[in-house]
Amino acid sequence: MRDMVNLRHDEVPSRWYNIIPDLPVPLPPPLDPDHGPSRIGNLPNLMIGECLKQEFSQENWIDVPGGVMDLFAKAGRPRPLFRATNLEKRLETPARLYYKGEFYSPTGSHKVNTALAQCWYAKQQGFKRVTTETGAGQWGTALAYAAAVTGLKCTVYWVRSVYNWKKDRLSFMKLFGAEVYASPSPRTDVGRSLYDKNPNHVGSLGIAISEGLEDSQKDPAATYSLGSVLNHVLMHQTVIGLETQKQFEIFGDYPDVVVSCLGGGSNFGGFALPFMGDVLKKGKKIKFIAAQSQVAPNLQGTYQYDFADYAEMTPLLKMYTLGHKSDMEPIKGDGLRYHGCSPIISLLRNEGYIDTVAYPKDEKHVFENARLFMETEGWLPAPESAYSICAAIDEALKCRESGEKKTIAFNISGHGFLDIPGYRAVLGVE
Ligand SMILES: *Cc1c(COP(=O)(O)O)cnc(C)c1O
Repeated sequence: MRDMVNLRHDEVPSRWYNIIPDLPVPLPPPLDPDHGPSRIGNLPNLMIGECLKQEFSQENWIDVPGGVMDLFAKAGRPRPLFRATNLEKRLETPARLYYKGEFYSPTGSHKVNTALAQCWYAKQQGFKRVTTETGAGQWGTALAYAAAVTGLKCTVYWVRSVYNWKKDRLSFMKLFGAEVYASPSPRTDVGRSLYDKNPNHVGSLGIAISEGLEDSQKDPAATYSLGSVLNHVLMHQTVIGLETQKQFEIFGDYPDVVVSCLGGGSNFGGFALPFMGDVLKKGKKIKFIAAQSQVAPNLQGTYQYDFADYAEMTPLLKMYTLGHKSDMEPIKGDGLRYHGCSPIISLLRNEGYIDTVAYPKDEKHVFENARLFMETEGWLPAPESAYSICAAIDEALKCRESGEKKTIAFNISGHGFLDIPGYRAVLGVE
């Protein structure tokens, strides 16, 4: 077998996997807080109708509309699964390492998968514009791209601390025709309340979500689109894991360990949940590891109801959380910096199905391992994906100690072509 397997384009999965009916205990529903207006009642004013329906669906499989399959093809799906033979040799590990190439993406990350689906549904429903938040900038770029190819306008509220230094990503979004604002901005009530006190406010994902929500709420032609955390977002991303399962069949192998980085959960969920389905329904044994940063180790927070945004406009979600008003220091893997973890992943963690590791905030170990991956396998990963690589390498080294021939699968959720300044800063290369 060669070191890479891909599918034919007509083998791209045409149904998404919805794990909700297979969960070991029922998923706690979103709740309204004791005070104030009903957040749940307001959801239809905020969310794309079809996505809201999917959010609560009890169907195991949901058809990917033909229009979305066409968009997946336009975005270059399917994406290859590689065997990391060079890296294995360098590590002198008996483990077999496989990585999925989500970095084959028009904007650089896996986030295009749900962006395309959401924009397609928004267009069908007659919306003219989508609004959103972005942290690292990958989600904002993905939505800007998806809006462009589906003929929608796009407005992005971008956490100021990142907006200020990722100039290339800003231009990238603007080339797709998106309007982009540093958040907190003076354009919304929530933003203004913070901006007026401090125009240099560094912002947070929670604040930017509030701004995106408020903007769409005030314009009937606009809808809001979220890039992670929610059930339907993870479900759209299962195309990654479903492809990977078919590719493992072709390789004639099957993972013992499934690793991925986790901020809100869309990357981890998209890659791991189809395999989790095998564990829950077919009795497979797999160790799942979610890789995080010590600045936002939400899976080590408390499992409780919390808001998904700063201004408390969303319903309460039962999730592992650090608190919706918590401050988290900036890191280069900024896409992992969010206070809460998706309710689905949180439940599975609470039931003991998912292990987690959090790496120190200087990111040295993470970036050094990413560099090792680059030197051996040749791909430049996004800083967030570097966490997946790091955790996979740590597992492979444990196998070197124990002599176990484990099969380790990880997802490279994005490329780092626009993140070289981050590598420079952490590794001190010229
Ligand atoms: C956003 C992002 C992640 C994290 O995704 P979550 O849904 O927040 O867990 C990982 N990798 C890349 C490249 C990203 O852009």
